[in-house]
Amino acid sequence: MITFKNLHKAFGDNEVLKGINCAIPTGSVTVILGPSGSGKTTLLRSVNFLEKADRGEIILDDIHINVEKASKADIHKIRQRTAMVFQMYNLFKNKTALENIMEGLTVVKKMSKPEAKEKALYFLNKVGLADKADAYPHQLSGGQQQRIGIARALALNPDVILFDEPTSALDPELVGEVLEVMKKVAQEVNCTLLVVTHEINFAREVADTIIFMDKGVIVEQGPPQTILNNPQEERTKQFLSRYI
Ligand code: ADP
Repeated sequence: MITFKNLHKAFGDNEVLKGINCAIPTGSVTVILGPSGSGKTTLLRSVNFLEKADRGEIILDDIHINVEKASKADIHKIRQRTAMVFQMYNLFKNKTALENIMEGLTVVKKMSKPEAKEKALYFLNKVGLADKADAYPHQLSGGQQQRIGIARALALNPDVILFDEPTSALDPELVGEVLEVMKKVAQEVNCTLLVVTHEINFAREVADTIIFMDKGVIVEQGPPQTILNNPQEERTKQFLSRYI
């Protein structure tokens, strides 16, 4: 379970998270929707302290962090249990697909090279790119690079994968293949997925819970059929009217 308790974050005068409270069950898929600037990415990045919230609590199973007092050891522990898939993939340009996946395994997880290679190949296969093991990022499409990004996250065997708008940098024709891989991950892998995206159909099909955020607060949350078909709040209705 990931729990946020009264999480606050400001950038200067801009209060971006205004007291976030929610609990995300282990193994569930949660999609965070909301207008641009509503704080979705900041909330996601606060989980692994890529963004340090100002106050509040973040609890991941037995790791209980009061963010004001977060120690390096706390942050290390939470990072060991989470992996992130970035909007711009963030692959090493001078490493092959295989080496990109192996990097975290040898450096962070201290695995031997042969063991890391075997694991990397397994996850390359999972995302349908076994034949691209030796390709460099520039030889791959954006969709393929993002699938490598997903394989890299999976290989770390995290409890939680944080997806930060994983398809928003892609040409429209490449979005589908990445969403398919994410759907497969949601079905086959037991970790908790927290996904910031504007892909409403993905949210409808794959999410257990949708969180709708606006202006730094959670406006409402619930299962897709409730939030998408029968939203209670005016702000949610307005947002969805642009998509549905
Ligand atoms: P969303 O993901 O919903 O689009 P973000 O969490 O990215 O929203 O951003 C929320 C607000 O915080 C925006 O006004 C954005 O400009 C601001 N913001 C985000 N990151 C930073 C930063 N590193 N420094 C200053 N302002 C930031």
